[in-house]
Amino acid sequence: MMPSALYPPIFVLGNGQLGRMLRYAGAPLDIDVRPLGFDEPHFDIPQSAIVTAEIERWPHTALTDALSAHPHFANKDVFARLADRLTQKQLLDELGIATSPWCVLESQAELTEAFDNIGEKLVVKRRTGGYDGRGQWIVNADNRAQISDELLGEVIAEQFIPFDYEISLVGARFRDGSMRFYPITRNLQQEGILRYSVVHCEQPHLSTLQAQAEKMLAPILTALEYVGVMAMECFVIGEQLLVNELAPRVHNSGHWTQLGANISQFELHLRALLDLPTPALALTMPSVMVNLIGSEHNAEWLRVPHSQLHWYGKAVRPGRKLGHINIAHPDKSAVITALEALSPLLEANYQSGLAWAIENLR
Ligand code: ATP
Ligand code: MG
Repeated sequence: MMPSALYPPIFVLGNGQLGRMLRYAGAPLDIDVRPLGFDEPHFDIPQSAIVTAEIERWPHTALTDALSAHPHFANKDVFARLADRLTQKQLLDELGIATSPWCVLESQAELTEAFDNIGEKLVVKRRTGGYDGRGQWIVNADNRAQISDELLGEVIAEQFIPFDYEISLVGARFRDGSMRFYPITRNLQQEGILRYSVVHCEQPHLSTLQAQAEKMLAPILTALEYVGVMAMECFVIGEQLLVNELAPRVHNSGHWTQLGANISQFELHLRALLDLPTPALALTMPSVMVNLIGSEHNAEWLRVPHSQLHWYGKAVRPGRKLGHINIAHPDKSAVITALEALSPLLEANYQSGLAWAIENLR
């Protein structure tokens, strides 16, 4: 892409699918977004540039050191704080935001105490580096041996929450402190991986949750003086929300906004970074997002009506996020028909989730 005459270039730490989708979102506005791999050769980053990230942690390389030292690296101090589950949990506690009860785990004795004080069923999570359910162990007294001594000091323990379902709230804070939020998204995670999101406005219980969720994320964004998009994943228990985790970036549970909202989360992030005039966010159509996990590309997917395929061009590996399909239509029954058309084009391990999405639309 040619340099923009309107806006400074935006460099993205990381060149995975999120960086790529930020780049697409910039193109129509003539915003020059350049995702960068960590090992790309170091170059002089213009002073006027803005730097953002599509991930929370990165290795030290000549390029990542230069980017993270740039004076316009947005949210510079936030990444380390949220990338470590210990400091993330501390932040939630400081702000008085409900989250699953937790403790650090530095000795086997502390694990014993955790069973007494936190719960007989725990989720032990790596402080850093876990994703898509990796680096997590569900532990009770009988199988506690999985928590080897090497893990101690590297993990936290939290109460296993028998939640009713999971939602997320994606929103952004602008430089003037104003905030925008999307409608909350209902998510289905399987084996720790987000697989489906559903969004529509006729879920009556969601309106009270929407207000509650915004009251949780807003003070976090404010306290961090954050600029750009952040996602908050929550467990829902009855009428109550517990924050599971925060992601200081565009998020998989916001991918539906590419088709079903007036402004996509990727464009929203760029607008916040550049402080562009932005209307209220709106859901334009009931939407479903289907993550493509470990499946070979299938051109037949392109036949599904009212759908938009994003294929990330990565090597196919089991359990890997390789793409997603957004389906959106003002008439929910058309979304259901499209999901039914997609169903035979996906393997057996998708079927329960497709049925879940259809059930949620009804
Ligand atoms: P992501 O890919 O979203 O970053 P992650 O691997 O970092 O995920 P979490 O979001 O903490 O990890 O957990 C993944 C999923 O595991 C959750 O969405 C939820 O389904 C389940 N899970 C995590 N913590 C708990 C808990 N305390 N109680 C019950 N289920 C949990
Ligand atoms: Mg998560």
